[in-house]
Amino acid sequence: MPFIFCAAVLIFQWTFFQQAGAAQAIVAIDPGHGGYDEGIVYNADGKEISEKKLDLAIARAISAALQAKGANAFLVRSVDRYLGIAQRAQIASARRPALFLSVHLASAGAFQVYVSLMPSPQLAPVPSAAAGQAMQAGTGGAAGGAAGTPAGGPAVQTGPAVLAAPVNGGQPGPDQQALRQYYLYSMRQRPYLGKSRDFASALEQSLKQAFPGGNISYMEIPLPLLDAIAAPAVLIECPGPQYMDYTQPVISGIAQAVANAVMAYGAH
Ligand SMILES: [Zn+2]
Repeated sequence: MPFIFCAAVLIFQWTFFQQAGAAQAIVAIDPGHGGYDEGIVYNADGKEISEKKLDLAIARAISAALQAKGANAFLVRSVDRYLGIAQRAQIASARRPALFLSVHLASAGAFQVYVSLMPSPQLAPVPSAAAGQAMQAGTGGAAGGAAGTPAGGPAVQTGPAVLAAPVNGGQPGPDQQALRQYYLYSMRQRPYLGKSRDFASALEQSLKQAFPGGNISYMEIPLPLLDAIAAPAVLIECPGPQYMDYTQPVISGIAQAVANAVMAYGAH
């Protein structure tokens, strides 16, 4: 391997780690669904394929591709078990990742790259340290719903006015506390939206290179899981298995494209 290429990779990694502000920058890879939550169930040639299994296989390959490039990565779910949104956010946040990527499959034939669409700044204050504490307390109401899917339900967007008026003689009641906690918790993504878009853009570019002629698109939609992540966060949907034959080389190709995007993102 040419020396210049190796040197360039090292410089990319160094920059990425520096940007993360930590010696051990970590990428959190979140395989969608799990346990009783199968995700989309596809019927291919009379055989049923569950999205959750392919999500995990792709996530594992991404993690391996990143580690091969010297990056540090971990899986939010490494076995077939159910995790709610709050659990996923907590598992990922505990390791303070520099980047978060949730991996899903689509029902259509395109790669879709998603960044969270958050409420307008007029309605949503930038989260404070209290948001982090709420996150630590972590019983937030975000646990319900299908984890991490774009169809997992709209974000609860509660305006500060609802949270400002205490009941019970000045003390917030349990419902109000839960609302406040959920609200702060759901705002954690806000300071990272710009970087999330940067990473999404790097991912689009890399997928276009890896799958020339492939259909790759970008969207911002309300995504409660990404809202709860205090790091640049992106959700990718890979084409459904009716459109892409998920052989090992294809899975490796996707993983390489994602790993290249992580390195390119870290380089600017
Ligand atoms: Zn999914």
